[in-house]
Amino acid sequence: MKKIMTPGPTQVRENVRMARSLATTNPDLDLEFYEYYKDTCDLLSELLHTKNVCYILSGEGILGLEAACASLTEPGDRVLVLDNGIFGKGFADFVKIYGGEPVLYSADYRREFDMEALAAYLEQNHDFKYAALVHCDTPTGVQNPIEEICPLLKRYGILSVVDAVASMFGVDINVDTCQADIVCGGSQKALSAPVGLTMVCVSDEAIRVMEQRKTPIASFYANLLTFRDYYKNKWFPYTMPISDIYGLRTALENVKADKEIHKRHADIAAATRQAVTEAGLKLYLERGYCATVTVVEVPEGVDSAVLLDTMTEKYGVMIAGCFDFLAGEVIRLGHMGENANVEDVTMMLYALECALADLGYPLKASMRDVFVREMKNK
Ligand SMILES: *Cc1c(COP(=O)(O)O)cnc(C)c1O
Repeated sequence: MKKIMTPGPTQVRENVRMARSLATTNPDLDLEFYEYYKDTCDLLSELLHTKNVCYILSGEGILGLEAACASLTEPGDRVLVLDNGIFGKGFADFVKIYGGEPVLYSADYRREFDMEALAAYLEQNHDFKYAALVHCDTPTGVQNPIEEICPLLKRYGILSVVDAVASMFGVDINVDTCQADIVCGGSQKALSAPVGLTMVCVSDEAIRVMEQRKTPIASFYANLLTFRDYYKNKWFPYTMPISDIYGLRTALENVKADKEIHKRHADIAAATRQAVTEAGLKLYLERGYCATVTVVEVPEGVDSAVLLDTMTEKYGVMIAGCFDFLAGEVIRLGHMGENANVEDVTMMLYALECALADLGYPLKASMRDVFVREMKNK
């Protein structure tokens, strides 16, 4: 078996896999399942430090992003798309599909948003229904300060939709402090459950805005209002994937029991960056690093496809390349969720240095040694 060290999907712990194999009831008809689902959603709210309601939708992370845009966007709505990464820019497509008018605020892709520049822009331009932004934009690994951006948007009455798929549970998110209106997560990233579920955390204000639309939401599956009264009415809009939700619940309990989870992510990410740079490789970002993924430029003269292939085939460790304008330009080292442990990251860095040596690219230091040294000092 290959070691999956990609920035999602991540390795799934045995107790999560076991939970998915349990015998199941009929989740539409068995009232106990409504309690179980609600308790699981409440646990999500607790871990995100919020009074806002959470829903678990049957679909991969992208469904959460689309559902947020589908549910808020009415034809002609102006939507601010905060673009300093590939997923950030991608929000414009969802806005357009639902008839909105995306307005891009594009900034340097090699760092987090500059708050002064954004504040100056908003001072002049604030006629937006909502803004869409990404907490950790995985293709570059940048982490944006949602705890500053969302409250700033609120001051102008702009709702926020935050893609936290790649950061949730690897980085502590306090939804109430952030005042974020819709926060989206995915099962397969730092939560380390299998692919297939998206979690959305929705503010009362966002629900009110959906209720007050002049036009109906142009979707059923991506309509967040269909979940609003599930508990009261004991009715789900579609049959819930009960085994996936058993797994998700166990993964959430794993997160809750792990008191060091955020510190461990931060330590491992810092030690990985130190290892990469001491070895003479170059990080893609100049600043604004997220704790769940490290993005490294493909060194001069190295073919990224050959490098990735050597790592997988010869050393059994899978890391990720990239897509869009970064295809072939960077490699991505995942250290999120279950992958964020010293043993696996050491193995990944060792595999990378061996593969680079095989391709005749000399490093200035052993990444494995630097990483181990750094982690000893944490
Ligand atoms: C993984 C991820 C998603 C979900 O997208 P997939 O590519 O389909 O897995 C959405 N947003 C971000 C930032 C992600 O990292």
